Amino acid sequence: MDVFIEPIGRLINQFSKLPGVGKKTAQRYAYKVIGMTEAEAKEFAESIVCCKQKVRYCKVCGNFTEEDVCEICKRRQGNTICVVKEPKDVIAMEKLHEFKGVYHVLHGVISPMDGVGPNDIRIKELLARIDGTVQEVIMATNPDVEGEATAMYIAKLLKPLGVNVTRLAHGIPVGGELEYTDEITLSRALSERKSI
Ligand SMILES: [Zn+2]
Repeated sequence: MDVFIEPIGRLINQFSKLPGVGKKTAQRYAYKVIGMTEAEAKEFAESIVCCKQKVRYCKVCGNFTEEDVCEICKRRQGNTICVVKEPKDVIAMEKLHEFKGVYHVLHGVISPMDGVGPNDIRIKELLARIDGTVQEVIMATNPDVEGEATAMYIAKLLKPLGVNVTRLAHGIPVGGELEYTDEITLSRALSERKSI
């Protein structure tokens, strides 16, 4: 039998679904919620539901947005496209305040081990964006095995279309992630990017 009364057990269960949250931490979170005022708890719960209802993917780049097309796609010139794995990588790049182009979020990388093939990520959507106005595509997937393989695979498809394909320079630790790379290193990797 569960040691927790039903509502508490249920909440602990929900928190344990979050990445990196074990049973102990989930318990701590649940107690914290119980300690909230009813208004605070409502605000907490509603912000979750609100995110689910309002946040969707930009029709063009695949980044998070509240509208059909995101602010970046609406406001910026599309001649340089920076290709990243996930929406959080857009945040990492945007923090640099250096990149003035647009993004393309793949929502994954090719990973045969995990059963993810080229058709499972947004590659054809990227190819559809390549018209005469696109001059450069920067492959900014993580410098791990899957990230490198995905960058090379996409570069092969893009080259015949007459686009200059570049890759972030090394300096990002191998196996590292954009999200955890310090801004100076990432900024240097961007400015020293090389054609592939
Ligand atoms: Zn967009």
